[in-house]
Amino acid sequence: LIVLDKVNKFFGDLHVLRDVDLSVGRGEVVVVIGPSGSGKSTLCRAINRLETISSGQITFDGKALPAEGRALARLRSDVGMVFQSFNLFAHKTILENVTLGPIKVRKDKPEEARKRGMTLLERVGIANQAGKYPAQLSGGQQQRAAIARALAMQPKAMLFDEPTSALDPEMVGEVLDVMTSLARDGMTMVVVTHEMGFARHAANRVVFMADGQLVEQAEPGEFFANPRSDRAKDFLSKIL
Ligand code: ATP
Ligand code: MG
Repeated sequence: LIVLDKVNKFFGDLHVLRDVDLSVGRGEVVVVIGPSGSGKSTLCRAINRLETISSGQITFDGKALPAEGRALARLRSDVGMVFQSFNLFAHKTILENVTLGPIKVRKDKPEEARKRGMTLLERVGIANQAGKYPAQLSGGQQQRAAIARALAMQPKAMLFDEPTSALDPEMVGEVLDVMTSLARDGMTMVVVTHEMGFARHAANRVVFMADGQLVEQAEPGEFFANPRSDRAKDFLSKIL
C-alpha cells in the first residue's frame, strides 16, 4: 500500500533520510524505532506529504504522492495521522472535532457524520465525553479523540508519531489498547513509538532507523532476540 523507493530528504545541508526503501503492505503494522534525530518523524511526514522529499519516490496505493489540490486533500484523508501532541481543535467539542473533516471534506450529511462520529467515540471509549472541549479531557482521552478524528475520514492507513510520549504513564495503556484493536482489525499502520510491548505484540515488522538510514527490519520476535547491527544492539541495550 505504501512504497518508498530510494527516498532522500535534506534540510539544507542536513541529510535526514538516506536512500530509504520501505514497503508497507495492506493490513501490515510496522513499528519504526531509532534514536532521537534519526528521521522517524520526517519519514512519517513524508508519507502524507507534510514534508516534500528531495529525491526518490513514494507511492500510496500504486500512485505517486500528489503535490497539491484535491488529490493531496484525498491523500491526507486516506492517510490518517496522529501526533504526539493531540492537535485537537481547542474551540470545538470532541464530537465536532470528529465530524468536522467528514462534513467539510467528505461532504457527509451532518446528521450521518454525527452518528458515525458517536460510533467512533464509542469505539475508542469516550462517547461520554462527546460534548466536552479538549481541555476538559485527560491526555489519554484527548489522544483517543484524535485517533477517532483520523478514523472518521475512513483512512486506508494510519500513521502514529509517538502517540503516547506526551502522556502520563497511567494513560499510555488506554491509547495503546485502541491502537492494538485497530491493528487487529486489519488497519495498515506505521507507528513510531518507544513502547516495545506494543511493537512485540501488535507489529508485523520492526524497522530500526539511525542517522536517516533504515538500518534493519525484522519480525519483532526476531528483532528483539537477535538484532543484527551494532547500532540496533546498542539502542536496545539503552531502552530495554
Ligand atoms: P525524535 O525521536 O527526537 O522525534 P526523529 O527520529 O523523529 O527524532 P526527525 O524529527 O525526523 O527525527 O528529525 C531528523 C533530523 O532532521 C533532526 O536532525 C532534526 O533536527 C532535523 N529536522 C527535522 N525537521 C526539520 C526542519 N523542518 N528543518 C530543519 N531540520 C529539521
Ligand atoms: Mg520524532
